[in-house]
Amino acid sequence: MLSCKDTTHLLSAAQDRKLAWSERMSLEMHLVMCKGCTNFRKQMTFLRTACRRYTAGIQNEDPSRKV
Ligand SMILES: [Zn+2]
Repeated sequence: MLSCKDTTHLLSAAQDRKLAWSERMSLEMHLVMCKGCTNFRKQMTFLRTACRRYTAGIQNEDPSRKV
């Protein structure tokens, strides 16, 4: 069973690399039982989406960047 610290660490790592099957399983097992880490994942997903939209917005607003 993962600790909350391990879980948040894995959630961060999942942004940068594909998790191993065993890592994903442990992660999901913990998330089912832990509301804190579930919220952490929600916030992280939200931030990532917001960041991507912001970047896409900048590119759309600046047509001179497109060659
Ligand atoms: Zn937790």
